[in-house]
Amino acid sequence: MYVDKEKCIGCGSCVTYCPMQALSVVEDSLDINHNECVECNICYRAGVCPCDALEIKELSWPRIVRSVFSDPLLSHGNTGVPGRGTEEMKTNDVTNRFRPGYIGIAIEMGRPGTGTRFYDVEKVAMAVAEHDVKFEILNPVTHLMTNRATGQINPEVLNEKALSAIIEFEIPSEKTREVLRTIKDVSAEIETVFSLDICSRVAQDGILPQVAPVEQEDIALSINGKTNVGLGRVKEKGGAMA
Ligand code: SF4
Ligand code: SF4
Repeated sequence: MYVDKEKCIGCGSCVTYCPMQALSVVEDSLDINHNECVECNICYRAGVCPCDALEIKELSWPRIVRSVFSDPLLSHGNTGVPGRGTEEMKTNDVTNRFRPGYIGIAIEMGRPGTGTRFYDVEKVAMAVAEHDVKFEILNPVTHLMTNRATGQINPEVLNEKALSAIIEFEIPSEKTREVLRTIKDVSAEIETVFSLDICSRVAQDGILPQVAPVEQEDIALSINGKTNVGLGRVKEKGGAMA
């Protein structure tokens, strides 16, 4: 984000719209903390500036990664990272991405107010990669990886910050406990927050195979989980995995 200091009157109207607290008024003029700004463009789109002082400038690599992951209206095909995640897990009955015997996990890193640096995303990705997980190839974080076997991310983007970024992967269900344990361990080493999504097919006997391992690891299950009843038209092929 850019502010035209000649136009800005320092009214502060835009300040509260920033989800990263990157805006403040200093000496009657808007100050933007560019290190914290994730280029979500929310302050601009709020449309509250009385003198059109806020401007969206074209971003170069690697800073453009911030807006691709943070601005829900933006998609830059030339960066190879269109959006922050893939089709939602709740469409699994249509996409068939997670087959019987496998568990899908998404780690949603960062939230408004905290965001996430990509060095933290890499830390978590590298930790889970030690369990031979299959990262989802359509996911934009996977596109940023220079090594999908180790979870290493392009070093050029590691210090970039986004509102959130989602790591998505698949594991055989028998690995669920060990992967959850690794996620708990690595959570102590990162500077941001994350939420964990876990998905599977309902087994023939009606059991959800991920519930027992989650409970055994003392992780609280959310009460707002979703169950699809399979009324969607199934695509011919399952989701592609790396
Ligand atoms: S673009 Fe987003 S993060 Fe940057 S200053 Fe505006 S609202 Fe804040
Ligand atoms: S709303 Fe416009 S004039 Fe007011 S502080 Fe923000 S940029 Fe400056």
